[in-house]
Amino acid sequence: MSTENKYDLNEILIHLGEERNNYFQAIAPPIIQSSNFVFNSIEELKRKIQNESSEFVYSRGNNPTVSILRQKMAALEHAEDALIVGSGASAISAAIISQVKSGDHIICVQKPYSWTYKLLTSFLNRFNVTYSFVDASDIEEIKKHILPNTRILMLESPNSLTFEIQDLEACAALAKQHNLVTIIDNSHCSPIFQNPIDFGIDIVVHSATKYICGHSDVVMGVICSSRKIILEIFNSEVMTLGLTVSPNDAFLALRGLRTLPLRLKRVDHSAFIVFQFLKSHPKVLRVYYPFDPDNPQFKLAKKQMSGCGGLISFEVNTDSKDNIHTFFKALDKFLCAVSWGGHESLKMPSLAFHDIEGQEDSPIPWQMFRLYIGLEDCDYLIENLKDAFDQI
Ligand SMILES: *Cc1c(COP(=O)(O)O)cnc(C)c1O
Repeated sequence: MSTENKYDLNEILIHLGEERNNYFQAIAPPIIQSSNFVFNSIEELKRKIQNESSEFVYSRGNNPTVSILRQKMAALEHAEDALIVGSGASAISAAIISQVKSGDHIICVQKPYSWTYKLLTSFLNRFNVTYSFVDASDIEEIKKHILPNTRILMLESPNSLTFEIQDLEACAALAKQHNLVTIIDNSHCSPIFQNPIDFGIDIVVHSATKYICGHSDVVMGVICSSRKIILEIFNSEVMTLGLTVSPNDAFLALRGLRTLPLRLKRVDHSAFIVFQFLKSHPKVLRVYYPFDPDNPQFKLAKKQMSGCGGLISFEVNTDSKDNIHTFFKALDKFLCAVSWGGHESLKMPSLAFHDIEGQEDSPIPWQMFRLYIGLEDCDYLIENLKDAFDQI
């Protein structure tokens, strides 16, 4: 592969990493379901053990099927190298843990993914790592919270419920001035719509469970960064905590990648049409969508994202919880489930996080729904939305 087409999508998705000479010229890569690999000499054993992250020694570390995926994910994110781990949560945890020690401080966006929040507030705090959640849409707010022991600036742009974004270029520049490592959860955009490394971000993590695998059948995470950082995370967090994926899941992810740009183009297009429908509907109070021209962050969103994907949130204009139940029931072409990024459209009612005994209500209004627009025809989905609104 020549350098000028290093990031060419066609090249990455069809050719990169596929060494067909090694497996009977098969088009589809083999699932090398083997825990360990044989050495023919002491020399070979010695050499491979010394370089375990890129050789095949033991599948807790590296595996030929997983290795193809690593190469493609690194190229997709314009990174030097990548690691594939057991979940998005383990990708986030490994990336963050790899950059701190006891006594350090982390600055994190407000309302990060729930398990990022848990990692900081009820896991790393046990190891004397402190944190501040800041409104990172304002670079001055971030600056104000930098302490002498701050090590990480943790970003998530956009977040996957109300879609606040951060100025990635400004965040990366500020972090470099203060010697902070920048990490971003890029699950919402996938590498198709946003490449944070181009803006100077150090580590990009993904829940590959979402768009990358794309068929609601695999849980997986990805970490993309420099060769140096990836090697450190491999030798420490990945190997000690054993954050492995199975070759079979890597195969499914590779299969998912073949259609990643197609699927994203489709959900992006459909979601925009659904956004326009919701925006003009009299029973909708408010719509949350990064490419809403009325969004105060619209210009920044357009600068750093080439698409939005399939997530939209909105508030139903009602004072009645019964109406929310009626609307929910009528919206029967959307499955109610967590997660997103698969073939199927989903609905997530905020009301489920209210009126829970012994718990504070969620700060998100109970009138809000998050929709994930899947691969169905958008006319089919809009028809169902129309019907559901007509019933309230
Ligand atoms: C789902 C999700 C994660 C966690 O990924 P898992 O694969 O479920 O562990 C992290 N960040 C975001 C934004 C997500 O949507």
